Amino acid sequence: MRADDFFADERRRRVAQGLQRALRPIDGAQDARLDIDGRSVLCLSSNNYLGLANHPLLIEAAVSAVRAYGVGAGASRLISGSMRGHHALEAQLADFKRTDAALLFTSGYHANLGCIASLVGPDDAVFSDALNHASLIDGCRLSRAHVVVYPHNDVEALAERLAMVPARRRLIVTDSVFSMDGDHAPLAALCDLAERYEAMLMVDEAHATGVLGARGAGLVEALGLSARVTVQMGTLGKALGGFGAYVAGSHGLIDFLINRARTQIFTTALPPPVVAAAAAALELVQREPERRAALRRNGQRLRSGLQALGYDVLGTDDGHIVPVLVGGADATMALSARLLTHDVLAHGIRPPTVADGTARVRATVMATHTDADIDAALAAFATLAPRARVAVR
Ligand SMILES: *Cc1c(COP(=O)(O)O)cnc(C)c1O
Repeated sequence: MRADDFFADERRRRVAQGLQRALRPIDGAQDARLDIDGRSVLCLSSNNYLGLANHPLLIEAAVSAVRAYGVGAGASRLISGSMRGHHALEAQLADFKRTDAALLFTSGYHANLGCIASLVGPDDAVFSDALNHASLIDGCRLSRAHVVVYPHNDVEALAERLAMVPARRRLIVTDSVFSMDGDHAPLAALCDLAERYEAMLMVDEAHATGVLGARGAGLVEALGLSARVTVQMGTLGKALGGFGAYVAGSHGLIDFLINRARTQIFTTALPPPVVAAAAAALELVQREPERRAALRRNGQRLRSGLQALGYDVLGTDDGHIVPVLVGGADATMALSARLLTHDVLAHGIRPPTVADGTARVRATVMATHTDADIDAALAAFATLAPRARVAVR
């Protein structure tokens, strides 16, 4: 088959299934409102939860680092790319996470692939929550370990499987805050199981870093479990506003990953401005807990308003991820498209990202949304509420 025919066939299939996607250019900076095609659109679709992506202190840090050190690291960490800034940021991250050590990765995707694939192999088993992020799923696949998917947050089902499946090494892997549902993993119970079955526990704090915990270090911090989690992973690209990712844990873990994680060994180190921006962001999130409080307030305001309109909303009461369950993929995309005509950007999430019949509009709030912003979003949802309900049921 000619390549062009293949692409055209595939596209027709996607269009017929209502699954065709396209990129939409955003003009201007990442903010609570976005400039799309000359219109100011309220953004309910960003992981820039604390509004740090264009914060003056991060910009200043990045610009200074560019001036002092240039735009690139020149090589991988193990060759000549391990700059002083990388080491300083890793020390800062270890302090933030209350662990022995930390290691930077290019992105959360790289971190998850590299960690899982190095920690377990063909004679091992990895136990993965059914709603885990795609990067964790891909890491499991790449590891060639026996992959055991357990029902979402089902501690008993996981215990049964841990008891049943023979393996040299075991690894339990979970999101802390689930990206599409906004609910939390039962981390204390997972720590108990990991200890009982001598399994390693890896927690992905992508949506909790900067957001949960007294200092913003995540759900592990909020629950006081830092000493009991083998691998604490998080991204610098969401609430921290920049780019890159980290893994925090024991000296043993970090030494192991430096030597074995292929997604860290065979790739160029993070550029100086990215590292400097992350360092500034880490300081800021610890110094300004009011950003986290504003995020929680906005989550609460949007969620309770949507519920009053009759929408079926998932997640926790004051969570920043506010998924509006619709059901069908077409109805979900229609709701999202109609919201955009009201200048509200809230993306529809459909299969295969979520299970069939559970398509949803995934709204997320930001600390930088004002009450008026949230109320404007609610006003847009209000005009669509009756129709949305008819479409679902
Ligand atoms: C976004 C995300 C990642 C990937 O992080 P990046 O730094 O964007 O590559 C990993 N895990 C979860 C749960 C995520 O939501």
